[in-house]
Amino acid sequence: MKKLIICNFKMNGSVAMINNYRNQLLNHTLLTNLQNSQLIICPPFPYLSLLQNQSNINLGAQNCSHLQEKSSTGEIDANMLQDLNCQFVIIGHNERRIKLHETSEQINEKISQALQNGLKVILCVGDIENHTENEQGINTAIDYILDQCANSLSDITDDQMQNIIIAYEPVWAIGSGMVPELSYIKKIINILKQNFPASPVCYGGSVNSNNASDILSLSDGILLGKASLDVDEMLKIIQQVENN
Ligand code: PEP
Repeated sequence: MKKLIICNFKMNGSVAMINNYRNQLLNHTLLTNLQNSQLIICPPFPYLSLLQNQSNINLGAQNCSHLQEKSSTGEIDANMLQDLNCQFVIIGHNERRIKLHETSEQINEKISQALQNGLKVILCVGDIENHTENEQGINTAIDYILDQCANSLSDITDDQMQNIIIAYEPVWAIGSGMVPELSYIKKIINILKQNFPASPVCYGGSVNSNNASDILSLSDGILLGKASLDVDEMLKIIQQVENN
């Protein structure tokens, strides 16, 4: 299976920045023939069309609505994402869970809507506090993460799990420059893979070109925030994956 490189632009970018980014990336010879990596780029909604229908870029959104009523001002549903040729959608990112108080019920509804519209889901889960200090801490983190998965995935069938990528993102590692020990990441990834054998499992949280290879050796892919905005960083990471 190709390694997933998922780029979450968050609320960054502009028409000029994204056009320039796309041109720099796509003009690089590396992008003409990706053998080992699958690149998924998730820009903000208004810029999705700037990355539409580009070979070697899979388009993803950062969210979709849990609401079904068309009278939902300001919302964007999974059907619209499909209409824009999105193939992926990030659901349950901690920045939305924490800042916008997204609940597991809403996340579960979003996942159903996304799957019904033929999208693949990137479900983000992760422990809030740093529990890396001892075995007891790791078990607390594992219980928390499995609970988040169970609540977000209720009524999702084993078959549907093939269309769900689980992104394990320790909240304390996102944007902080801190990354757990590889042994800790490995333990959590393995537990997620045992519990959800049909789903690829990725890691996210301060991944960059210095640590990407090690993390990719333990996981099916990486979710990049800050590093994804830097074309040089992206090319270094893609090069490492392609050389493996
Ligand atoms: C993220 O936004 O999910 C993320 C992993 O960000 P960063 O790579 O900047 O830590």
